[in-house]
Amino acid sequence: MYSIGIDSGSVATKGVLFNGSIIKEITIPTGWSPKMASEEVLNRLIKESNIQKEHVKKIIGTGYGRVSMPFVDKTITEITCHAKGAHFLNPTVQTILDIGGQDSKVIKIDEDGNVIDFLMNDKCAAGTGRFLQVMANVLGKDVSDLDLLTKGGEPEPITSMCTVFAESEVISLLAKGIPLENIASGIIHSIGNRGVSLLDRISIVDVVAFTGGVAKINVLKKVIEEKIEKNIYIPENSQIVGALGAAVIGWEKIE
Ligand code: ADP
Repeated sequence: MYSIGIDSGSVATKGVLFNGSIIKEITIPTGWSPKMASEEVLNRLIKESNIQKEHVKKIIGTGYGRVSMPFVDKTITEITCHAKGAHFLNPTVQTILDIGGQDSKVIKIDEDGNVIDFLMNDKCAAGTGRFLQVMANVLGKDVSDLDLLTKGGEPEPITSMCTVFAESEVISLLAKGIPLENIASGIIHSIGNRGVSLLDRISIVDVVAFTGGVAKINVLKKVIEEKIEKNIYIPENSQIVGALGAAVIGWEKIE
């Protein structure tokens, strides 16, 4: 028997096949259709794992695209799913900072992985993966290049609070000949500051986990750790935590 969790986000659709442990995980771009992306993830999870569809007893959908998944048994908010997923990976986690493509959130959970409180920024692109994508684009790079780009850089302050103005600011910095590594480092610090301000609005209880696609930027870990003066835990694949949580909830229902 298996459960499947599918998290269709603004940028990426993630899926996890689960039977008490993670059997397989898949991440693909959401593109223009969360429905098509979710169906592709579901079909690939089953096909590439060589299992029979009938053996999947529960499918749980989450993420903003969860309303476009006619094949799921149930939909659950990403807040609950992130909490479950992070708790499954590390039961000591009590605070989660999640930065995805179009929102960022902090979630406080109890020792059983239940949500106690949460705060969300879904009104402004600054402090989200979208900000990074816009900035990487101005630098003519991919977001996955930002890690290496910051090497040896001294963070150049990015003062604009708005993504659109920050984009113009970065263009001006490039025109002034500010080294790329300093600008890249400034971009990382800017998103780090946003994450920390969100964390500051909730009392941080150890252990703090950092999840979402943006947590894949290794240098961001150190930036946030220095600012909050605490170590943070980043799952091996930070992007699939919501999908994993959905799969765990499905599995609990089967059991
Ligand atoms: P959503 O659920 O909204 O689709 P995700 O949690 O999947 O968001 O994260 C998507 C964001 O993660 C992208 O906007 C991008 O900025 C960032 N991201 C994804 N992969 C990487 C990577 N390899 N390196 C750096 N950032 C990444």
